[in-house]
Amino acid sequence: MAIATINPATGATEHEFEPHGPEEVERRIALARSGFETLKATTFADRAAWLRRTADLLDAEIATTARLLVVEMGKPIAQAEAEIRKSAKGLRFYADHAEAFLADEPLGDPAAVGASRAWTRYEPLGTVLAVMPWNFPVWQALRFAAPALAAGNTGLLKHASNVPQTALYLDTLFERGGFPPGAFQALLIGSGAVNAVIEDERVHAVTLTGSEPAGRAVAAAAGAQIKKTVLELGGSDPFVVLPSADLDAAVATAVKARTVNNGQSCIAAKRFIVHTDVYDEFAARFAEAVAALVVGDPLDPATEVGPLATEAGRDELAELVDDAVAKGAEVLAGGGAPDRPGWYYTPTVLAGLGDDARIVREEAFGPVATLYRAQDADDAARIANQTTFGLSSSVWTNDADEQDWFIRRLDAGAVFVNGMTVSFPELPFGGVKDSGYGRELAAAGIREFTNLKTVWKA
Ligand code: NDP
Repeated sequence: MAIATINPATGATEHEFEPHGPEEVERRIALARSGFETLKATTFADRAAWLRRTADLLDAEIATTARLLVVEMGKPIAQAEAEIRKSAKGLRFYADHAEAFLADEPLGDPAAVGASRAWTRYEPLGTVLAVMPWNFPVWQALRFAAPALAAGNTGLLKHASNVPQTALYLDTLFERGGFPPGAFQALLIGSGAVNAVIEDERVHAVTLTGSEPAGRAVAAAAGAQIKKTVLELGGSDPFVVLPSADLDAAVATAVKARTVNNGQSCIAAKRFIVHTDVYDEFAARFAEAVAALVVGDPLDPATEVGPLATEAGRDELAELVDDAVAKGAEVLAGGGAPDRPGWYYTPTVLAGLGDDARIVREEAFGPVATLYRAQDADDAARIANQTTFGLSSSVWTNDADEQDWFIRRLDAGAVFVNGMTVSFPELPFGGVKDSGYGRELAAAGIREFTNLKTVWKA
């Protein structure tokens, strides 16, 4: 895959970049290593001040950066701006809380271990490689970088090949915010050059957000080197609607939860599992609302759904829909690509899916929803859990016992009750099963890439 900006709304190649060769990669890894020696000697207060300055830069530059995101991956402009504001918030969150999250923890009863004092402390691990995707190209890179740098690690970003200008923007961002050289750098390399970076002894850990195959490949390479990994992979999140739910709110949120970011979010609700008592009404209203979405140029503020980020992604989505229809699925809305330049796909709702349809098991990364009729709560939980993924989930019911029951029953890294899944700097984020392991954000996220050192004193 070329390292290039290809505008998804037109299909035109706007900029192509030469990948970094081995010498440039070597120079950057060496700088990350020396940067770590500098950074680990700084204080939380220093790093907090630099994070705040970096956040201020993000805010000040939002107009040009948001446009860049739209041109590189096609999200609607208002969502690009929201992503940048959220990223700035994430930086300020760790500026405010990193020191408390990583404070020493004394053992209350040191005599129990024969010590006068015993405690644990968190130390940075070193240089962490971040392999990142294109769908939230600023937020996903910064939700790694903010805690990693706040802890005193340095970061190397291997960004997706279709967002090189965003990668280059991030390459200089932290240094402009005051961090020492080497604290955070981008490597313009293809996926084939990643293993050599993982194998380098100056790189200590890897985090990856992206597809399951990419996660397996990177974790295998890191495992061979005994290097820690955090994996945030795909999802096929269930959105369960029960008879006591507020149907107006459930329908409106379902539309948003499926189509935000042009349907390309790991935590998008993808499978809508509705109790038979309210199924027909939900299906009719949901399909009507999806069909009414404004599809168009992502730079137009009126657009609700823009193109998919890549031609391959659009073609894969079309294949999943065609396969389901060939196997008997009913199309309640959309069902194909519109006749226009760029990689658009009309927002689509499918129902009556056969068990053999690929979309029942595979992640649909675009604005395509699948509907399932559940006979009762037990059946709904069974359908919700029948995927190999386990990222997040959403359940809609106003019955308190039913809420508790679903919170326990759903196999996922998160359960949102009467709301859609959203990531917040304040809440841990990550999955189970094939959605990966480890957590980002909150206190759990900053501790992932630290050495929890136990200290015992006679
Ligand atoms: P990928 O997983 O292929 O790409 C994500 C990142 O991983 C990119 O930086 C990519 O680099 C890199 N990468 C891919 N394969 C390897 C490898 N073998 N070794 C090292 N690095 C690798 O995502 P795609 O863009 O191809 O999207 C495909 C599917 O992945 C989507 O349809 C969706 O299902 C899922 N996905 C999930 C995301 C999430 O948020 N969880 C985000 C993006 C995708 P390069 O770009 O150079 O190939």
